[in-house]
Amino acid sequence: MNQIPLVDLKAAHAEVADYVRAGFERVLAATAFIGGEEVREFEREYAGFAGVAHCVGVANGTDALELALRASGVEVGDEVVLPANTFIATAGAVARIGARPVLVDCLPDTQLMDHQAALDATGPATRAVVPVHLYGQCAATAELAARLPGHVRLVEDAAQSQGATRDGRSPGSGGIAATSFYPGKNLGAYGDAGAVLTDDEELAGLVRSLANHGGTAKYRHDVAGFNSRLDGLQAVVLRAKLARLAAGNAARRAAAARYDALLADLAAAGRVVLPTTDAGNVHVWHLYVVRVTGAGPGRDEVAGKLNAEGIGAGVHYPVPVHLTPAFSHLGHRRGDFPHAEQAADRILSLPLYPQITADQQQQVVNTLADALR
Ligand SMILES: *Cc1c(COP(=O)(O)O)cnc(C)c1O
Repeated sequence: MNQIPLVDLKAAHAEVADYVRAGFERVLAATAFIGGEEVREFEREYAGFAGVAHCVGVANGTDALELALRASGVEVGDEVVLPANTFIATAGAVARIGARPVLVDCLPDTQLMDHQAALDATGPATRAVVPVHLYGQCAATAELAARLPGHVRLVEDAAQSQGATRDGRSPGSGGIAATSFYPGKNLGAYGDAGAVLTDDEELAGLVRSLANHGGTAKYRHDVAGFNSRLDGLQAVVLRAKLARLAAGNAARRAAAARYDALLADLAAAGRVVLPTTDAGNVHVWHLYVVRVTGAGPGRDEVAGKLNAEGIGAGVHYPVPVHLTPAFSHLGHRRGDFPHAEQAADRILSLPLYPQITADQQQQVVNTLADALR
């Protein structure tokens, strides 16, 4: 039986192994373990790739979100609006500041945050709104930003959208965004890493200061910072993989198009709903997520059968934030965010990575068709 993982990190490593070993030797020779030349070069290169003026490397994506929120002025007791259907870290970063996550529903087709719902949830206590560029597709951030009241900042969760644009705009440009280099992300380190992206020099300086034990005299914020820095060894890995990221994203797009074609019959039969891309988006397909519908076995049964056949199908994410015990204190119940809840019950992520072959995709679709019977 051929195993097909959800993400093939071994194949990704094989492409950069020699470069990474040579880079590790450079870092060891320089003993540049935190910060240093490799980190500076990576920050410069990634800012260029991401289409922003500044990239500040930090310890992980959750820290990047927290730092971007803090730099945007979010404090204890403030409200921060975010979608109910996201990875728990989006809400976790808000909670760690002592701010209150205010959850809103998603749109039924793309599962991106419902902007009107976000605007409706915005009030005098709101300090920030956090759209999540889910699965590699940018939410309509520019439209949202234009309609937000002056006291509300936009902080983008770009953990899944490395290289994605919407109407030519990159996450963080004209504002601030956080990304994650968790190993399974489109650009993954060999451990934890993340970054804050912005065009604003002052915000970038503030993030850098907060992430390095707090402000210097130069910065007006009189707050205790913490330690969230990027390691030299991780920067070596990230530089090696960054050189291949554009090609990797293009390969993901080609693989997504191939899934669309291979799954057309199942979609026409009403057994799966294929992912949709909004006009103007350059999608980077962090995940290829279908929805299991119609009569027949449900999502959990289908996922179980795929996994039993060695196909690494996943669910991103099975429980919306408002139904997790960690956020039960927000006082929500099932039914509050119907689109997010329905998606959580139906979504299924199929294996997708730049090196996936047409044969592997055919095998995934054949196994899925059997599982749906
Ligand atoms: C991965 C991810 C994060 C958190 O990143 P870490 O590096 O794991 O802390 C936040 N938000 C979203 C949407 C993510 O996918």
